[in-house]
Amino acid sequence: MSKSPLKSFINGAWVLPATSTATVDAINPATEEVCAVVAVCGHDDADRAVQAARAAFDGYAATTLEHRIALVEKLITIFERRYDEMVTAISTEMGAPYDLSYDAQAESGPGHLKATVKAVREMAWDYDVGTDGIVTHEPIGVCVLITPWNWPINQIVCKVGPALITGCTMVLKPSEMAPLSAQLFAEMVEEAGFPKGVFNMIHGTGASVGDTLTSHPEVDMISFTGSTRAGIQIAKNAADTVKRVAQELGGKSANIVFADSDLEAAVTRGVLHCYGNTGQSCNAPTRMLVEQSVYDEAVAIAARVAKAAQLGDPMKKGPHYGPVVSKAHYDKIQGLIQVGIDEGAQLVAGGTGRAEGFDRGYYVKPTVFAGVHNKMRIAQEEVFGPVLVLIPFIDEADAIAIANDSPYGLYAYVQTNDMDRARRVARLMRAGGVSINGTSQDYMAPFGGYKQSGNGREYGEFGVRDFLEIKSISGFR
Ligand code: NAD
Repeated sequence: MSKSPLKSFINGAWVLPATSTATVDAINPATEEVCAVVAVCGHDDADRAVQAARAAFDGYAATTLEHRIALVEKLITIFERRYDEMVTAISTEMGAPYDLSYDAQAESGPGHLKATVKAVREMAWDYDVGTDGIVTHEPIGVCVLITPWNWPINQIVCKVGPALITGCTMVLKPSEMAPLSAQLFAEMVEEAGFPKGVFNMIHGTGASVGDTLTSHPEVDMISFTGSTRAGIQIAKNAADTVKRVAQELGGKSANIVFADSDLEAAVTRGVLHCYGNTGQSCNAPTRMLVEQSVYDEAVAIAARVAKAAQLGDPMKKGPHYGPVVSKAHYDKIQGLIQVGIDEGAQLVAGGTGRAEGFDRGYYVKPTVFAGVHNKMRIAQEEVFGPVLVLIPFIDEADAIAIANDSPYGLYAYVQTNDMDRARRVARLMRAGGVSINGTSQDYMAPFGGYKQSGNGREYGEFGVRDFLEIKSISGFR
């Protein structure tokens, strides 16, 4: 039975594109079957959504913070009621295994919304400056929010939550590859009762609506998460009307493993973390830098852990990894594994070809390369799949130099039992976040990158501030 095309949500109504008849099939990566058909919006629909957000802005911006907090708290309640539907939507559309969808992917929805409420309650919105002045904060205006497929609801909520609570109005364009979670979330926002036009969601592709959304004169801000390639194009489009552009882009994060760490635990943790979400996390620790004296031992541990990694059906519970998101992405990863082989890196686990035991689904073999040096493409380019490289280093200075020798600077990791060293190295790594010995960051801590990993920060108060203008008024007191 053919599926009805998913509608977009514009100015408080569910609509099909006005003129475009194009559709995109979203594919379940485990079954290779169509899981949703997206009705692709065109430039006229994008314009209509932006105009709706503009028309709603003055009225919504004038509501009180307490009113908006109450609406967001209602949204949290609805999200928690429909939680299981969200878990299924995410696993279906992008292949995250059930446990990951339940414990982390879907959980990030209410998790971030609650952190956003906490942040705005604790923030100083107005404060005195000098003898008679104040500083105040106001919503920036109409926002375009563009999100990827890999942590689909996390990225949507990190943008929509702060935009709603600060009094902004918005057009969300989710990834065409992960439309089910976005559709469900839009239904939740509708039910929460935000005024017409405050939240709009249009399905489409970069080609079908990207230019209209990112160059529209009525748009004040763009918050984008995705590839560095698309981020550069978006920033260029936004420049003509001097929009604020917040970007969360790619990564190639270093994980420095010192010889004084608990090697078995540190390497095992690093491999499993790299393979989490089947390697499709922007902050995945994909470059393991290992001190020369324990390098061979670390390679042996990593190969053993990778060979033991289980792949499986995303709909089933258990500690397995899922497929990668699409055939095109599978092919790209296969190509980069071949590049590693051709460059002379030593394959110690995995390799090219579909993972054994699967006659369908985009299952990549969990792969480890040893004998890698940092100038190889396999060490510089974001693979976005379960592919780990191990690079030896001589001493602390060498490790930091290799870690920082990357166009990216999203996240970094350090493993050592010497806490003075851990703190020193964490400060010297050019990355927006650092994890020491396997710790994970709080929803209130800022998340974002240095260098070509982006600008701006999401999560907690820093994520809220991205959606605010700052006004200084003298003679106010
Ligand atoms: P992508 O750049 O292909 O697409 C992301 C979104 O942008 C999609 O909604 C897509 O339709 C849209 N888009 C593409 N081209 C556009 C254009 N020219 N104008 C407007 N919109 C456009 O990325 P992807 O493949 O969906 O996601 C994977 C990438 O996202 C990886 O590089 C990953 O590192 C990055 N990412 C970064 C973070 C972070 O927080 N730094 C988080 C998750 C993912």
